[in-house]
Amino acid sequence: MENNEHQTIIKRALSGLSEAEFTSLTKHVGWPSFKGNQIYSWIYKKWVSSFDEMTDLNLKERQYLKENYILSPLTLSEKQLSKDKTIKYLWRMNDGNLIESVRMFMEGHDSYSACISSQAGCAIGCPFCATGTVGFKKNLNANEIVDQILGMQRDTKERISNVVFMGQGEPLLNYNEVLKAIHLVKDSVGIGARHITLSTSGIPPQIKKLADEKLQITLAVSLHAPDQKTREILVPVARKYKMDELMGSLHYYYNATKRRITIEYVMLEGINDQIDKAKQLADLIRDLHCHINLIPYNPIDSLSGVELSRSPMNKINKFKEVLEKTSRKKVTIRHERGIDINAACGQLANKVR
Ligand code: SAH
Ligand code: SF4
Repeated sequence: MENNEHQTIIKRALSGLSEAEFTSLTKHVGWPSFKGNQIYSWIYKKWVSSFDEMTDLNLKERQYLKENYILSPLTLSEKQLSKDKTIKYLWRMNDGNLIESVRMFMEGHDSYSACISSQAGCAIGCPFCATGTVGFKKNLNANEIVDQILGMQRDTKERISNVVFMGQGEPLLNYNEVLKAIHLVKDSVGIGARHITLSTSGIPPQIKKLADEKLQITLAVSLHAPDQKTREILVPVARKYKMDELMGSLHYYYNATKRRITIEYVMLEGINDQIDKAKQLADLIRDLHCHINLIPYNPIDSLSGVELSRSPMNKINKFKEVLEKTSRKKVTIRHERGIDINAACGQLANKVR
């Protein structure tokens, strides 16, 4: 990867390349292809942090790699540890942009889940989301996406077993790189599709396209309101894609994949937490194979002028009860993590800078 604009050469990062890319890389260098397999395995299976740890390469080979490549496209810029074991990572990319990802401990499963970013910033601009207030900065490429997971494994020496695209950015607006990353997570990092969740603000043409890939990943949709008017305020992309079209694409997704959809609904006092909204939501999703996840709102410094506050817990519980009874679907309330370090859902905005 060269950037000749300023006569500087940005070395290509090896972490996050596919097995096939390693084969062509070794071919290009003139090495036997098993060398490519060795490097691949050091990166994906042994989570090494430097070329020096690749001990089955000789010194000359390691030197060659050091001179011509870098190991990771991400440099750890800051790391914060929460009381509940959540870790928030701030990474610097080679172009200077920053992104965050979060590792959460999943009680009961005794395993770790990675919440990763697909873009720096986000163009959708939901008024309750910290990333939305930053605006769009750039699309991540597949190796920058995948290396967030590998970086966490390198740092902790512990395996990640679940991945959620719920960090910064709208994954379906970076479709090709996100799709490539999903394949890498499956095939190279070794996390099964059923352990991968992609969360989207709801972009029907892309949802249908994703459905046609016939992956077994979980699709989560940030619905946040059962009616067009409220949804337009909370998720501005709804002005372009109306409720009917969105719901149509969700049915399409289920029919193509037979994977139950997750409906995400952030609970905002007086805006979408009224009992009649719960009933309206039940109506809307009646025929959809889905379950609903109610998300307690994590307050952010809002720039939008829209006054938002978190629904009190008794209101969330009541909403859940009514929704469950009228829809006969499973409704859960999201357990928040990393609150003390601003690592909870929607709080990732690289505030430190
Ligand atoms: N852009 C995608 C994925 C990233 S956001 C999407 O919108 O789905 C991941 C989830 O966090 C979404 O459901 C989003 O609505 C939610 N979220 C954003 N800001 C939040 C906040 N301040 N409190 C609680 N949830 C929030
Ligand atoms: Fe973007 Fe999702 Fe945040 Fe909305 S909630 S601004 S779509 S990251």
